[in-house]
Amino acid sequence: MSIMVPSTTPALITPGRQALDSALHQFDQAAGHLGLDDGLRTMLATPRRSLTVSVPVRREDGRLDVVQGFRVQHNVSRGPAKGGLRFHPTTDLDEVTALAMWMTWKCALVGIPYGGAKGGVAVDPAGLTTRELERLTRRYVSEIMPLIGPEKDIPAPDVGTDEQTMAWIMDTYSVSAGYSVPGVVTGKPTTLGGSLGRTGATSRGVQIAVLAALGRSPEGVTVAVQGFGKVGALAAQYLSDAGCKIVAVSDVTGAVHARGGLDVARLRAYATETGGVRGFHHADALDRDDLLELDVDVLVPAAMESAITEVNAPRVRARLIVEGANGPTTPEADEILAAAGTTVVPDILANAGGVIVSYLEWVQNMQAYSWGSGEVEVKLRDLMLGAFSDVRSLAAERGLTLRQAAHVIGVGRVAEAHQMRGLYP
Ligand code: GLU
Repeated sequence: MSIMVPSTTPALITPGRQALDSALHQFDQAAGHLGLDDGLRTMLATPRRSLTVSVPVRREDGRLDVVQGFRVQHNVSRGPAKGGLRFHPTTDLDEVTALAMWMTWKCALVGIPYGGAKGGVAVDPAGLTTRELERLTRRYVSEIMPLIGPEKDIPAPDVGTDEQTMAWIMDTYSVSAGYSVPGVVTGKPTTLGGSLGRTGATSRGVQIAVLAALGRSPEGVTVAVQGFGKVGALAAQYLSDAGCKIVAVSDVTGAVHARGGLDVARLRAYATETGGVRGFHHADALDRDDLLELDVDVLVPAAMESAITEVNAPRVRARLIVEGANGPTTPEADEILAAAGTTVVPDILANAGGVIVSYLEWVQNMQAYSWGSGEVEVKLRDLMLGAFSDVRSLAAERGLTLRQAAHVIGVGRVAEAHQMRGLYP
């Protein structure tokens, strides 16, 4: 049995297909290492449920647009399906499937009792008014309603969605149930049962991962961050707060570079005000693609999948890459980086802070209780560092890259859950 996809002309490979190829390749390597049998491999390579929906949206001018939406539950063996919801124009079923699979291994790796899921709507949220976005979100939720619920599948923010989106999801689900169900979604505003510390959780996790991987004082360590959205901007802030020197950042509008270090707080305020980092006075403009090849100590890709490929990997000079995004490095690039001795802290470990605090939020919701920020912070740190140490030990013991070790642990735990439960009927 082979789970690899039939060969396609490179020109026909969509970003989603590329992400799914990467996810399947990483899974296949781990499954081989674990010696899983063919039947189990096929089960784990295949999503349990995939739903494609058409979402009609009434535009402000009266027109009716129909966009495609998806929700994929990759695995539910260890608990309810869990994963974000993405609004992005190139989102498709392949991408959402890949992202759902990565969520499964991520939750298993950090030891939280969830399976993996992801949702997506193929739309550019920047092209919609707030009211259009609200209608779109509510209708999408109504279409996927049979799949979600606090014990079944719990969405959260991802690219293009935020606290407001989560509030609409919570409201739509709750109105349909007839009572408030805060645990149906995480990453909510705190007034609706959101957890303290959830907004910056992914970035805090990235900071924890960078500091753990560095193993030396962060003072003066140079960092480039690709992506200045929910994850990248706060990761840059937290790393700067820890003493690192953020020398370059990029977003969809452009990239900026300052050898002496950027004033991240000022840059965040500028980007919020103007819509992006481009044109920030206290820095030089930089080509966005060049950011990945800067001579820095640490590179944090925190944008989209497949940013580091076999084309630019040979030119990456950072010795440490910490993946804030999901799937930013292709398997071909991984091989090149490993051969060059570059350490890559993989996505399913480095960006797990988000889903960890989502889990803490859900636990608080299920108990109708809320914790202080200190408690959340300590639990996040413990889970991140515990997973980091498991990955590092296994990598050292078996001569694996950190990504291979992380996948062996994640896939291994899910496989074990499958085997213990047995097959029904
Ligand atoms: N979208 C985030 C991720 O990719 C968070 C998911 C969640 O909190 O469920 O990990």
